Amino acid sequence: MSAAKAYDDQNDVLNFIDGKPVKGSGRKQDVFNPSRGAVARQLVLSSVEDVNAAVAAAKSAAPGWANTPPVRRARIMNKFLNLMNEHTDALAAMITAEHGKVFTDAQGEVARGIDIIEFACGIPQLLKGDYTEQVANGIDNWTMRQPLGVVAGITPFNFPCMVPCWMFPVAIAAGNTFILKPSERDPSPSLYIAKLLKEAGLPDGVFNVVQGDKAAVDALIEHPDVAAISFVGSTPIAHYVHERGAHFGKRVQALGGAKNHMVVMPDADIPRVVDALVGAAYGSAGERCMAISVAVLVGDVGQKIMPMLEERARNLKIKDGMNLDAEMGPVVTQQAKQRIENHIEIGVKEGATLRVDGRGYKVEGHESGFYVGGTLFDNVTPDMTIYKEEIFGPVLACVHVKDFGQAVDLINNNEFGNGVSCFTSDGHIAREFAHRIQVGMVGINVPIPVPMSWHGFGGWKRSLFGDTHAFGEEGVRFYTKQKSVMQRWPESIGKGNEFVMPTV
Ligand code: NAD
Repeated sequence: MSAAKAYDDQNDVLNFIDGKPVKGSGRKQDVFNPSRGAVARQLVLSSVEDVNAAVAAAKSAAPGWANTPPVRRARIMNKFLNLMNEHTDALAAMITAEHGKVFTDAQGEVARGIDIIEFACGIPQLLKGDYTEQVANGIDNWTMRQPLGVVAGITPFNFPCMVPCWMFPVAIAAGNTFILKPSERDPSPSLYIAKLLKEAGLPDGVFNVVQGDKAAVDALIEHPDVAAISFVGSTPIAHYVHERGAHFGKRVQALGGAKNHMVVMPDADIPRVVDALVGAAYGSAGERCMAISVAVLVGDVGQKIMPMLEERARNLKIKDGMNLDAEMGPVVTQQAKQRIENHIEIGVKEGATLRVDGRGYKVEGHESGFYVGGTLFDNVTPDMTIYKEEIFGPVLACVHVKDFGQAVDLINNNEFGNGVSCFTSDGHIAREFAHRIQVGMVGINVPIPVPMSWHGFGGWKRSLFGDTHAFGEEGVRFYTKQKSVMQRWPESIGKGNEFVMPTV
């Protein structure tokens, strides 16, 4: 496939600062192809000096970009949107090569990223302020939103294209300059995106990439010229970034980890539930922040559904992601494989029933690949580690509850609140569920309810630190600050000194 070849022809992964790929000065780290279990290329881990260079470039580009009329910024976004559509397959092949997810799923990831770029093309409308004429005699008052300046995004490995697209299109369209610190595990799409933005006509310095790890993240958080940080990743790091960022006086939105439940009511259409559950639990090898990792089986649902789930989990098509009939690829690293297999071991020790064991899974021709088979646990209880902790792998835990009320209580007591789903044919139950559940994104007969670009994305509880969700109108608010202007003109000023508060 030519898209895969485009990926193979790339050199080592560099930074992208002031419109140019540049070598970093820091340490180096291997980037793997998880299906082969082999090193694919090397990555520079940026030093503080590299981060300072990126911030300096972004700072010097900021005034010119902020003054560029929003409609001209939107036109550049529109060109970028077309380029992303043209280059979807190249990006998807790159994602499959470094992340491991299947190619068709990677195409879907790029498409969901493109949705946000489309949203950002509407920035002139989104930045329109409010105006009140004649708040007092001859005085008008309006509000407008202005960019923050230099903003940064720190992103996780599991969506190396889509999650950066949750951030930079809105930030840039709103008039900010941006520094992306992608995951060190699958960094290549970030550079491809940088190249396409430049081709679309984005001025140098408006979008920059610094590769790296904690050192680069800390340098961005501590830098006085970075006004805001968007973070997506695991809960402990999200909490850390939120706290540190606030300490340095920055605006921070930090989206964290998840443990997403799917409630299956006795009146649900069980074959449809099985299809939805298998895709949501094992798609992308469970490495989605919206993956379903807990099935909450209400009443007698367990007896009906468990044999069907077992059959499907045993027969997943697990292959290198470039096979177009693959349903699941490898997990991202050897460490991730080890961590997931340890959790399976703990689940067995703590007394859950292991109905399908994915440990030691081998794919012919890819024996060194980081593969874990689909894993299915029954009789999981809320005190077990495999219920409490995010495993982030192809492991589905099934919990049995007596009734709807118990299902709602179980979910509301969980520390995470990212996504949730309820399958039922009862409209009243569906309505009650949406009303009572303490989770940010709710699906009714929809397994993975990722909101559309204009609705914004974000969880509750320990799945989000900060006030605003990613993209949508909240995203625009996050990347802009409101200014209120009160105006009157000489005729009324001509009345002389006024010492009392003007009133209507
Ligand atoms: P991670 O927390 O390990 O890494 C995320 C980012 O933080 C990376 O860029 C990484 O370089 C950086 N980082 C890692 N350790 C750091 C440290 N000690 N100090 C400062 N920065 C550090 O997450 P990951 O493994 O790449 O991604 C998977 C996690 O992301 C899962 O927990 C998943 O649920 C979560 N996630 C959440 C959402 C959401 O919208 N809530 C979306 C996608 C992924």
